Amino acid sequence: MSRVVIIGSGQAGVDCAFGLRQQGHTGPVTLVGDDPELPYQRPPLSKDVLKSRGETGWMPLRGEALYARQDITLRLGQPVREIRRTDRQVILADGSALPYDHLVLATGARNRLPPLPGLAEAAPLALRNAADTRRLIAALPGVARLAIIGGGFIGLETAAALQGSGIEVTLFEAAPRLMSRSVSPELSDWFRRFHEARGTTIRLEARIEEVRPGQLLLAGGEVQAFDALLLAAGVMPNVELAEAAGLTTGNGICTDDTHATSDPAIFAIGDCAEAPTPFAVGPVRLESVACASEQARRVAAILTGKPPPPPAPPWFWSHQGSARLQIAGLADPCDTIEVEGPLADISDAATLIIRRYRDGCLTAVETVNQAREHMQARKTLSSLRDSKVADRSRL
Ligand SMILES: Cc1cc2nc3c(=O)[nH]c(=O)nc-3n(C[C@H](O)[C@H](O)[C@H](O)COP(=O)(O)OP(=O)(O)OC[C@H]3O[C@@H](n4cnc5c(N)ncnc54)[C@H](O)[C@@H]3O)c2cc1C
Repeated sequence: MSRVVIIGSGQAGVDCAFGLRQQGHTGPVTLVGDDPELPYQRPPLSKDVLKSRGETGWMPLRGEALYARQDITLRLGQPVREIRRTDRQVILADGSALPYDHLVLATGARNRLPPLPGLAEAAPLALRNAADTRRLIAALPGVARLAIIGGGFIGLETAAALQGSGIEVTLFEAAPRLMSRSVSPELSDWFRRFHEARGTTIRLEARIEEVRPGQLLLAGGEVQAFDALLLAAGVMPNVELAEAAGLTTGNGICTDDTHATSDPAIFAIGDCAEAPTPFAVGPVRLESVACASEQARRVAAILTGKPPPPPAPPWFWSHQGSARLQIAGLADPCDTIEVEGPLADISDAATLIIRRYRDGCLTAVETVNQAREHMQARKTLSSLRDSKVADRSRL
């Protein structure tokens, strides 16, 4: 009866715990998380929860009673301080030791703090967990001008959730376009126009030189005043625990294609893990619910001696007001882009499909308000993966 300890009570950790039971694992399963709250879904925080000012949208990952029913021991509000690999134990902040046969690291990611003078002292608001969200919502009634640092998904979803509220939102992005790590230049530009038309001011290639109380100092001497500052400039993986235990890390905790780390008794999944996938040229660390859940299901199968499901094409979504963005696949590097739909239409009813190719092969499909096309793209990418695997087996 293998004892499994999972560190991190987010999407990946919870799905792994329940996945183990679904696969018939009968040994003890313990889920340890530093967040004191019953595990919850993060995506609604920057969407329905923020838009409703906390009145609706909070979604637990599983009902509280299910943990007891599935015999999953929850240790919440308990940071893990150390992994002792030689004794196969993890040590919690209260000093207690949990023995394991298999350990799953699902420690997620935390907000990146860009090295800007005055930023840490300004204690910017964040939107990473439930406590951050409550703090942001509590601050809003006194805010006329909100400055957001970062033009990725979280910054833009926040801007969308506040559109029409009377709060003047200015978003500062250092790159020349929005969501530059995730979407095509065509879609970046479409979203810029979409948000600007709804009242958000977007500053691309913004060079913030210093943060002062209530002020951003920009290159060229420009001063931007704000009442509240939200930091949404990306995340960094929580790898320190793994690193201190001597596991191999890079842009995340490095794993092989079975999600095993450099210690075969320890696995890493979700936002904290860097893993190979047939859909990318090298190992990648993905930040999405779909990826966290998929890796969790695969590890649950592996730990119960079953063949893991084949890796599915990565996919993401981001709801920004009326625009339902979905991305299937990983685009980069990409050499050809094909657009279907009028890019000029930024109305609430707009629909778009953008296909991205490398060497003539489809690598990603971005859609706006085209759920059926998105599902089709995931099927197409799966079949392309299968044909690539078949090609390799003939070599
Ligand atoms: C506001 C917001 C909106 C999002 N919207 C979307 C979306 O629309 N679509 C989408 O696909 N994805 C979205 N994401 C991303 C998605 O939520 C994450 O990719 C997913 O939650 C990753 O799950 P995870 O379990 O790997 O990490 P996390 O959910 O971050 O969970 C990791 C947990 O481990 C804990 N932990 C870390 N170190 C320790 C330790 N030493 N001891 C104990 N516990 C520890 C962390 O505190 C955290 O609770 C969003 C994220 C946020 C923050």
